[in-house]
Amino acid sequence: MRIYLDYNATSPPAPEVVEIVSRLMATEFGNASSVHAFGQRAKAVLDDARGQIAALIDADPSEIVLTSGGTEADNLAIRGATAALEGTPRRKIVTTGIEHEAVLNTIKALERRGWSATTLTLPETGVLTTDAFRAALDRDTAVVSVMHANNEVGTIQPVAQLASLAREQGALFHTDAVQSVGKIPVSVKQLGVDALSLSGHKFGGPKGTGALWIRRGVRLVSTMTGGRQERNRRAGTENVPLLAGLGVAAQLAAAHLANTARRVSALRDRLEERILATVDGTAVNGDRSARVPNTTNISFDGLEAESLLIALDLEGVAISTGSACSSGSLEPSHVLRAMGLPSSRARNSLRFSLGAATTETEIEFVAGILPGLVTKLRRLSRTAAALR
Ligand code: PLP
Repeated sequence: MRIYLDYNATSPPAPEVVEIVSRLMATEFGNASSVHAFGQRAKAVLDDARGQIAALIDADPSEIVLTSGGTEADNLAIRGATAALEGTPRRKIVTTGIEHEAVLNTIKALERRGWSATTLTLPETGVLTTDAFRAALDRDTAVVSVMHANNEVGTIQPVAQLASLAREQGALFHTDAVQSVGKIPVSVKQLGVDALSLSGHKFGGPKGTGALWIRRGVRLVSTMTGGRQERNRRAGTENVPLLAGLGVAAQLAAAHLANTARRVSALRDRLEERILATVDGTAVNGDRSARVPNTTNISFDGLEAESLLIALDLEGVAISTGSACSSGSLEPSHVLRAMGLPSSRARNSLRFSLGAATTETEIEFVAGILPGLVTKLRRLSRTAAALR
């Protein structure tokens, strides 16, 4: 049995998505910018997708810029908005330490070009306080980027409140909603943000697809130079079949969101409770209420998370640590570190992220094998430590 509990890394495409992508690969090869009938048909496909994505986030289709994914949407929002403000007195960017690298490394690159940045740490809850946020804002702040839901712990930030504080200071507010869109209701109107990123492959769409929603009137300099596609905001011939797949995934997510969220959160809570009750020295990282329904991040005292990940993989269970393995050395999760957790705890934490296809049988299986695996690995690590 193969059990996939790594939906925050990527999700399997829905059959309807696979069907439309493969069909349109064969039938809709037109360039959506061409004036002839082939081009017009391709453009109509893109318009449908744009409408479906807009409906999922309560937006106007004309404000959707189709991209190659969440990373590109984050880059376009942050680089595009700051470039449009070059030459003004506003020279500061405000963000948090728990953002995805697509945001953090983009802001680091801008710092090297003379922008200043304030990167906020968070309390252990993983939820930013409005007081800490307010204190970081001033009239120099050009752009704020605070994620909606975190990819490792699943915590949800009070984006509507934060965006209204940013607006009071005249700063633009971007939110990376890659991990919330398709999992919880997202309305750009209710959030009151200026720009929002989403990614298709996190909610049953194809990889290499995404979108940036950008409020009409917000100035943005395109990061990609070339043709005039996407109202001059994103140059390059659109990938019509894949973007049609993103549209269908958005439509399916909108139709099933409430039911899926209810079912998946019950399974997540069950898994979490079983682990906490049957495995000593375990704790959930981050706030358990302000969280997307599919994610739990759990620390296992006295255990290298990587060894449990490998042991679970050998049993056919796919999960994630959330830590990046760079040049052979395991870095503790920057998210857990930014939440003030010690690096030892950041090193022994694992993320379980469930999805629409997760079943009760799978959760029972995982909960059933975990206590034995943890006991065995803890014994092994104690023996290794004694031999050292
Ligand atoms: N932002 C967040 C919060 C993510 O979790 C991810 C993907 O892991 C991204 C951005 C990047 O999205 P993509 O893989 O579509 O480039």
